[in-house]
Amino acid sequence: MIARFTPDAWRERRRAVLEKIKSAIRDVPDFPKPGIVFKDIAPVLGDPVLFSAVIDIFADRHRDAGIDKIAAIDARGFIFGGALSDRLGAGFVPIRKKGKLPYKTFEQSYDLEYGSAELAVHQDAFKPGERVLVIDDLLATGGTAEACAKLIGKAGGEVVEMDFLIELSFLKGRDKLKGFSVFAPIVF
Ligand code: AMP
Repeated sequence: MIARFTPDAWRERRRAVLEKIKSAIRDVPDFPKPGIVFKDIAPVLGDPVLFSAVIDIFADRHRDAGIDKIAAIDARGFIFGGALSDRLGAGFVPIRKKGKLPYKTFEQSYDLEYGSAELAVHQDAFKPGERVLVIDDLLATGGTAEACAKLIGKAGGEVVEMDFLIELSFLKGRDKLKGFSVFAPIVF
């Protein structure tokens, strides 16, 4: 007989894995500027068990969801996005800082704490109506992800969900992403 996890055992296993990932995330105070506590995921990426567990969490969620493309946000989104594209058999689309993509682009500016920035995507990145999963490491104020969704819309893709490993809930990024499904398994 094949031993199986009961639903409760699965939930407990998932909770324990998330706890391990959460405790591996390192706080770096005053980076990149005074007053910001940077959530450093390098210890998670450097541990093969934890890195694989992160990809499992996203892949389990979308395995049968018919995702055509993963749109990953420059730069830490690329790390999860690349591995996840391979797992799901989906294409990979980099959403990059303006000036980095070589072909024709759509561009979208967004506000930062001080000033503004611009993201870009190749104009031919999506076929009309393609189902797109957005991925990044962390949701803070939501400005970056909102700009990313606008870009995907301009390029003809359809955002299915926006996934982040970490959400800083006190910054209320979800408020900017109303109308989109948002998933973040680790919340601070
Ligand atoms: P936001 O547009 O405010 O949601 O910022 C999200 C983007 O900034 C993501 O690409 C994150 O990688 C990065 N980011 C913002 N705040 C932090 C933080 N405290 N620690 C690590 N990365 C952050």
